[in-house]
Amino acid sequence: MKRGICYLVGAGPGDPLLMTLKGRECIGRADVVVYDYLSNPEFLAWAPSGAEVVYAGKKAGDHAMRQSEINALLVARTRAGKSVVRLKGGDPFLFGRGGEEAEALAEAGCAFEVVPGVSSALAGPAYAGIPLTHRAHNTAVTIFTGHEDPTKEGSSLDLEAIAKTPGTKVMLMGIERLGPITAGLLAGGMDGSTPVALVRRATTPRQETLVGTLADIAGRAAAAEFKAPAVAVFGGVVGLRGELGWFERLPLFGKTVAITRTRAQAGGLVAELRALGADAFGMPMIRIEPAPNKREFYETVAYSHGYDWIIFTSPNGVDAFFGAFFEIYKDARDLGAARIAAIGPATASAVRAYRLQVDVQPEKFVAEEIIKALEKETCVENLKILLPRAEGAREVLADELTRRGAIVDDIPAYRTVPADAEDPGIRRFRDEGADIVTFTSSSTAENFHALNFPVRPGIVHASIGPVTSKTMKSLGMAVDVEARVHDIPGLVKAIVSSCGN
Ligand code: SAH
Repeated sequence: MKRGICYLVGAGPGDPLLMTLKGRECIGRADVVVYDYLSNPEFLAWAPSGAEVVYAGKKAGDHAMRQSEINALLVARTRAGKSVVRLKGGDPFLFGRGGEEAEALAEAGCAFEVVPGVSSALAGPAYAGIPLTHRAHNTAVTIFTGHEDPTKEGSSLDLEAIAKTPGTKVMLMGIERLGPITAGLLAGGMDGSTPVALVRRATTPRQETLVGTLADIAGRAAAAEFKAPAVAVFGGVVGLRGELGWFERLPLFGKTVAITRTRAQAGGLVAELRALGADAFGMPMIRIEPAPNKREFYETVAYSHGYDWIIFTSPNGVDAFFGAFFEIYKDARDLGAARIAAIGPATASAVRAYRLQVDVQPEKFVAEEIIKALEKETCVENLKILLPRAEGAREVLADELTRRGAIVDDIPAYRTVPADAEDPGIRRFRDEGADIVTFTSSSTAENFHALNFPVRPGIVHASIGPVTSKTMKSLGMAVDVEARVHDIPGLVKAIVSSCGN
């Protein structure tokens, strides 16, 4: 039997890009993933499809599993020879009881490794524009937990000692006990005018920062109903935030953007918008499913070397075709002498992603244009042409080619089905709406319209170009923003300038 191992992996403070490469690698190979409330659920998508995923809870008041149960689970799965990932928010060894989990594993004789993470104690101040040390201000940093009630008898939290220690102080947890904690620090001799910043949901698009002084921060936090999870920073360095607060000044910071594309296609746009500070999420209007007649499709793909041309009309068709092709063959040369045509730049780049060149690339999906482009290369008569397409797609192209004497096999390679109403993105939009919704094709607009979401005044509809806008208008939808250059970067640019940047 394979020897099991448990990785205690730091999941970082929230922004998924702050996960370490080693952490990602561990998740990618995991048999079991045990995660907490504070670790980003997006990481679970990296786990192999058959992996067991366990939610261990830990939102205050909602302890899905007791610590002893978590320890027992980690030990049991590791003993069973599994590769176990225990995902913990921030760094696993900083106030997360990671030390206790490692002890349980060590006592049980289980192999374990620790993968450090970006702690909220560091990331919170960094994303609020507060350097923890600065030569003009301090030479030491104290990190403490506000978890314990300092007025409770037997509390090991020595606020007097912390108050007397020079340098910046960072507090994790205890935001709901700020009153007694700041009182304790004042009683310990800390200056009431010491600047304090509270950083909530740090590194996420919903980050909030509240600034005050040691004397007034508890009152301000109560007035603003400022809640956990937050880190508190005490010290002169907080004053640097005015100049260095970079994150909350990103052009789309604080904006929520819903993206009406399939999950696979939304990725690039989501990443670009997030990099600009937006809270972007995919809201897949359609799902791509495999061809309904799998056997016929695979037989056709297996015979693809027998065709003179393969004409791809969509990136999904390309992926469906090569997905099947590389299940059947191990060598790209098994495609034989078949030449490749791809309609539109997105389809062509999908082909190139498989390291194959596109021989003909007509710009427009109009049968005439495609045939003209092919005829520039060759005589169409008697050519054997394969046309992998969507189920139920228009067959004008096949008919036109056949009329000119070509032998055409057009085969459904995939089908599009309406989105699952319970998709988390769709559910989120239904419940919370968004500031901006993007439309990158007529079909996304049609599908969106058909879902009959509750009307939300003020929502901005952003369209990729005139064709999509026309469809939107014909459906009675407003078009608030239209990209000048009709591609993803053009759409991002239009959104940024509509937000006054
Ligand atoms: N091991 C974690 C801390 C676990 S204790 C780490 O290294 O970050 C949980 C506390 O961490 C919360 O009460 C809060 O104080 C802090 N915290 C975690 N994520 C945070 C975030 N995104 N923003 C602000 N504080 C956060």
